[in-house]
Amino acid sequence: MEERAALLARVSAGSGTEIKDPATGAVIGRVAFGTPDDVAAAVDTAAAAQPGWDALGDQDRCAALMRAADAIDAHAEELAYVVSREQGKTMNGLGARYEAAGCAAWVRAAASTPLPVEVLVDEGSSHAELHYRPIGVVGAITPWNWPMIIACWQIAPALRMGNTVVQKPSEYTTLTGLAIVQVMNEALPPGVLTAVTGAGDVGDALVRDRRVGKVMFTGSVQTGMKVIEASAGNMPRLTLELGGNDAGIVLPDADPGAIAEGLFWGAFINNGQTCAAMKRLYVPDAIYDEVVDALAGIAAKVPMGVGLDEGNALGPLQNQMQWNVVNRLVEEAKARGARVVMGGDPDAGAPGYFYPKTLIADIDNAAPLVQEEQFGPALPIVRYTDLEEAVQWTNGVDVGLGASVWSADREKALAIAARLQAGTVWINSHGGIDPRVPFGGAKHSGYGLEFGVEGLKAVSVPQVISG
Ligand code: ADP
Repeated sequence: MEERAALLARVSAGSGTEIKDPATGAVIGRVAFGTPDDVAAAVDTAAAAQPGWDALGDQDRCAALMRAADAIDAHAEELAYVVSREQGKTMNGLGARYEAAGCAAWVRAAASTPLPVEVLVDEGSSHAELHYRPIGVVGAITPWNWPMIIACWQIAPALRMGNTVVQKPSEYTTLTGLAIVQVMNEALPPGVLTAVTGAGDVGDALVRDRRVGKVMFTGSVQTGMKVIEASAGNMPRLTLELGGNDAGIVLPDADPGAIAEGLFWGAFINNGQTCAAMKRLYVPDAIYDEVVDALAGIAAKVPMGVGLDEGNALGPLQNQMQWNVVNRLVEEAKARGARVVMGGDPDAGAPGYFYPKTLIADIDNAAPLVQEEQFGPALPIVRYTDLEEAVQWTNGVDVGLGASVWSADREKALAIAARLQAGTVWINSHGGIDPRVPFGGAKHSGYGLEFGVEGLKAVSVPQVISG
């Protein structure tokens, strides 16, 4: 066995459901899926460990998290191997190694962001200050696109603030979820971080458990709405990072050659399976053909194939369900007369869930490929003549996670950015994140912020001490 495969072997259950590599169909391990009944035991463990973890104090908790980040670094290649085999992403590029490195970076950031007591009033005998106390047990529910780093985004701030965590990985990437938890647990006291496996019914049970005081959820809008409903009886606090349908607006003064690479990776990062990837692009008539040509030139050079092959930069889709969504949306676009610049012709008989890099031009804004979240490597490029229309189109969907404006003139870009209904607007890039900068959505993309000091506040109870 390859040395870097050791962690995958360790988290794989001897018997249980076969897990297949989305690139080849090869069996990579087995998972013993849990049931809703397993949630109570995991929450028991977390609840029992919480007072001791809180009593440890902020400094020692941060030190433990720093050691957890060191453990992630020490196992980075093994973690990258697990996520590449199970999720499909490439080892290189913005893929598995990049995700593993990001995990360590985010854990360190959560452990080193200061959150001092805030003195609100200090006038003679009047004194008021704001403290941030632990909530208790946090339920962390993750998706399959970035299964390690999203787990870290949820786990690390929650632990920092004195909570304990029960993590429920997506049923599509259970082995990866177990792997990151196991590695972090090399450095954490027992019981502070536990994982429960299983599907939506297990996630639902976690939301409904009366001892869970906060749910961190990253997933689809539809499931986010179910989480809100399920939370009604118990009122856990919620942070919801849901889907997006991010638009990019190119302004007429942009240089097509200079922006093409940023546009491509803004849309195709992780094969488009990224919440805040660019999922529709609005380009002015005056430079439309140049932008489409420049994008096609970049796309043609990006190698797609099995993730473990060091030369590849894009892998397969993670699962059949998502492949079907992408295929349906592209077929509908073709049927309404849109122009296929590249791709759109998957080899359905080939192994794995590969879908080719696809650029669709001269597509109308009402097309389902524009209006729905494709979550795959197929970018619709819509022509506009009136910038007002592009702004209306950008805001004309229910979701609002991110958006981007591409221009040589920063002031012009800023003026457009201010009018876009999105949690983040990038200028001349799309999708970049930073552990110091809060991230969250507008409209149906969810509520609550992750990262930075706002992310720490979101996993704690504010308490005023007055007098
Ligand atoms: P995706 O299409 O990205 O898998 P989901 O929103 O269905 O989106 O899944 C995200 C996570 O939510 C997964 O871990 C999944 O098991 C979990 N989940 C699915 N249904 C529910 C539910 N009703 N309550 C809580 N979690 C759920």
